[in-house]
Amino acid sequence: MKTILTAAFVQETNRYCPGVSSRQNFIDYTAYNGKEEILRGYKDRRSDFGAMIRYFSGRENYDLIPIIAWIAAPGPVVEQSVWQMVCDTLLEAIKNTPKVDGILLSLHGAMVTENSEDGEGDLLEVLRRQVGDTVPIITSLDLHANITRKMLANADAFFPCEYYPHTDDYDAGLRAADCMRRTLEGQITPVMRCCKLDMVLPYMPHAHPAFAPLLAEAQSLRGKGNLIDVSICHGFFPADIYEQGVAVLAVADKDADLAQKTADVLGEKVFAARRDLRRTFLTPKEGVRQALQSESFPVVLADVADNPGAGASSDGTELLRKMIEMDVQDAVVATIFDPETVAKAEEAGVGNEVEIDLGGKVVPQITGGPIRCKAYVKMLTDGKYRNRDIMNTGRIVNTGKTALLKIGGIYVIVASVRVQCYDLEVYRSVGIRPEDMKILVVKSTIHYRTSFGNVASAMLDVEAPALAPQCPEAMPLAHSRRPIYPLDDI
Ligand SMILES: [Zn+2]
Repeated sequence: MKTILTAAFVQETNRYCPGVSSRQNFIDYTAYNGKEEILRGYKDRRSDFGAMIRYFSGRENYDLIPIIAWIAAPGPVVEQSVWQMVCDTLLEAIKNTPKVDGILLSLHGAMVTENSEDGEGDLLEVLRRQVGDTVPIITSLDLHANITRKMLANADAFFPCEYYPHTDDYDAGLRAADCMRRTLEGQITPVMRCCKLDMVLPYMPHAHPAFAPLLAEAQSLRGKGNLIDVSICHGFFPADIYEQGVAVLAVADKDADLAQKTADVLGEKVFAARRDLRRTFLTPKEGVRQALQSESFPVVLADVADNPGAGASSDGTELLRKMIEMDVQDAVVATIFDPETVAKAEEAGVGNEVEIDLGGKVVPQITGGPIRCKAYVKMLTDGKYRNRDIMNTGRIVNTGKTALLKIGGIYVIVASVRVQCYDLEVYRSVGIRPEDMKILVVKSTIHYRTSFGNVASAMLDVEAPALAPQCPEAMPLAHSRRPIYPLDDI
C-alpha cells in the first residue's frame, strides 16, 4: 500500500490590493480540514484538486489522504498566520504518518505572504526538508504561476493548467496524479527543468493568435520520447515579485538535459513573440456605444481591470457611470462589491427606493468614487449559487448578502463578498434571464468567456481605471528584477 498525502493551498496575490487576505477570506471561499470535510466538499467539484482525489479513489494499493484544502479568492498578501497554519498542519500530518510515499499538492504559484514573496517556494522547501529527497513532491499549478528557483529546487514536477479561461484545471490535476502514480510504480523518474524569461505577459487568452501556436507546440511535445510534460506559465505580474515572469517548464523521465533543452528551445520562441503578445481594450464610452450599436443581443461588456479574480476591488464605478449617463436600458451589472449599500438596501426593504452612494469606496482615488443615486430594491438574497458551466462546475459561489438594485433601466447586483463571477448563474440567481438583456456587464478578465459565450452576440473588453490594469506598464512593479520586457525594451 502506498500512502500519498494531499492538500490544496491556493491564493493568487495582487500586491497592490490594500489589506491582507485573512483567515476569514479563506473561510468565505474554501476552508476544509481533514479527510471527511474535504471529500464531502469536493464530491461534485471539477477542479485540479478534485481530479487528484478522483484519480486515486478506489484505486487498489493506494491510500490518498487529504489533509487540508484552503483556498481564497485572489487579493492582497496572505496573512502569515494562515500560511503558518497550513504549513504546520502538513508537517504534523507527515510526522503522524508511518510512511509517506508521495506528496501531491494543488498550489497556485503566485502567493505572496506578509513575510515572503514566495509562499509556495517556502512551503515546498519546508516539506522537502521534512520528507527528504526520495519522496516525490508533485504539484498542479495555475497558468499564472511565477516559477521561482526555490519552487523548482523543492519539487519533482509541476503541472500547470494551460488554458485561459482555466477550463482545464481538472486535467492539470489528472496529469499531476498520473505522474505521481507512475513514479511510485517505478515506471518513471521525473526531472524538471525551467527556462525563465525576462518578460511579463499581460492577461493573455490561450486562443490569442500569437500565443495559440506556442501552446500547440508545448502540447505536441508532451509524451514524446522521454518527455512527460511541457508547459508555459504566464506568470502573474500583479504579484510583483523579483522572480516574476513567463517560464517554460519541461518534465522528462530521468533526462535532465532533454528537459532543459526542450524548455530553452520553446522559451526562445516565446521570447521572440513578445512584441506580438499584446492586447488592446475599449474605453467605457467606446464599449457602451459599440454595445448599443449592435444588431443582436446580449452584448457582454467585461470590466476587465476591475476583476476581483485578479485582486481588484470589484467596486469600480466608471463603466456603470457611463451607462447611467447614456441612459442605457435592459442591462445588468455583476457584481459591485459594496456591503454598506447592501445593508442600506436591506434596511429599506424589497419594493422600496433607497438613496445610496454605490461602489468606489475601496480605492476611490483610482476607481472613480461612489455614484450617488436613488435605487429601487428589487431583491435580497444570501448570494449563494452553483456554477453550472464548464469552469469550476459545481462550485458554490458565495457573494455574501446580495442586493439586486435597479437604477433607471439598469439592474445592478451588489455583493458583500468580493469574488469573481464568471458563470451566467450569477444573473439567474437573482431572477434575471441573461438572454433577455441587451447588455451584460461582468467584472472578469477572461474566465467569463466560456459561460457567457453561450448566449452573447459579442464580448467586448473594456478597461476602466482599477486595481488590475491589463498592461504591466500601468503598474509600478517595484520589486521586479530588471531589465524585463515590456518595462524595458529588450
Ligand atoms: Zn490564473
